[in-house]
Amino acid sequence: MMNIIFIAPPAAGKGTQSSLLEEKYEYKHISTGDLLRNEINKKSDFGNEIESIISKGELVSDDIITKLLKNELENIKHQKFILDGYPRNLRQAEILNELFNELNIENYVTIYLSLDNEIAMKRALGRVVCTKCGASYNKYFQNLMPKENGICDKCRSELVVRTDDNEETFKNRFDTFLNATNPVLDFYKEKNKLSIVDANQNTEEIFKNIEEILAGEDVNN
Ligand code: AMP
Repeated sequence: MMNIIFIAPPAAGKGTQSSLLEEKYEYKHISTGDLLRNEINKKSDFGNEIESIISKGELVSDDIITKLLKNELENIKHQKFILDGYPRNLRQAEILNELFNELNIENYVTIYLSLDNEIAMKRALGRVVCTKCGASYNKYFQNLMPKENGICDKCRSELVVRTDDNEETFKNRFDTFLNATNPVLDFYKEKNKLSIVDANQNTEEIFKNIEEILAGEDVNN
């Protein structure tokens, strides 16, 4: 199985798709957003610095995020992984390329989950996440609602709205994403490593498209 790099605007469902891939194919899910949130939870000066950046919807510096990611990639050894949230700009794509060379990682595909702005907004504003296990639900979509309001189906912990899922921050995150990621898409296209999935579809359809790509049946690259 190939390693996967997900490139997706916020709320495209990369967290959900990553969980499905983890369950079915035993991928290790590496989310740079989660790595940062782990630091925030430590309440250190470093964590507070990160929190003030994330809550404005801005990107953390390439240095900070690369250090956290490198550490993670070195520790996973031979397990196949999904990279979620990195690279977010061309510089990060170049750094990742160097890192892959250093660690002898050649077998990977970049999957772009493309999503319309209005659908992204609706998904983000309805999202609630588990404070303990990170599972994600949505109060606007019947099939994504938790069984019990405010409680995680999986571990029964409390569900909360992420601080960066308000309308203003979300708009900023979406625009930041589009500006910074277009060159990244070109970078992988040139390497013949880019596949595109329509993330306006429902969860099952998106997953099916991803499985087709992993099986080498992708027709759009
Ligand atoms: P996510 O969970 O992927 O939506 O990330 C949440 C926030 O973490 C983003 O809005 C950024 O502020 C920060 N972040 C995550 N990944 C990166 C990255 N590769 N480079 C810079 N900032 C990042």
